[in-house]
Amino acid sequence: MNLIKHNSNSISCKLVRSHLPDLLLDDAFTASHPALNAHLAACAECHTELAGLRSTFAALDEWTAPEPSPYFDTRLHARLREAEAARPEGIFERTWSFFQFSTGRHLRSAMTGALALALLLGGGTSTFLYLQQPAPQASATVNDLRILDKNADALQQMDQLLDDSNAPQSDDSATPPTT
Ligand SMILES: [Zn+2]
Repeated sequence: MNLIKHNSNSISCKLVRSHLPDLLLDDAFTASHPALNAHLAACAECHTELAGLRSTFAALDEWTAPEPSPYFDTRLHARLREAEAARPEGIFERTWSFFQFSTGRHLRSAMTGALALALLLGGGTSTFLYLQQPAPQASATVNDLRILDKNADALQQMDQLLDDSNAPQSDDSATPPTT
């Protein structure tokens, strides 16, 4: 069923924008709604919008997800063992990390209020000392893995620098000769 009137004047930019996914992904929809095409031909803004979406989709088609680093699993398991072996956290620390990392903003503001109250009641000093305890030391295994990771990062950065310095030359050679 064709819901859109075949009169380009009656079509608003808003209607065209609402059908941009159809126009982008469904060739049959585009063919069966010439009024939308007429609007796109006449309206520069809608035309630019659709062209932008098309180039974004084309870029996404060419993109491939990067491979994880070779030591990812080893590092992850070492850190999991580290976390398991760490001393059990007190009720205050668990509550603090829950409010710190939970996404509920209303909870965060509630926690801010609770902290302010704790500061008032405790005179500030004891609460601050508790919050500023140093983090537990990482094991030798995890430190070694971190050093490996930094070395891999440095090598990768050097590769990128080399790639960047080569890029303009390869672009120049890729331009077709004008006849
Ligand atoms: Zn328009």
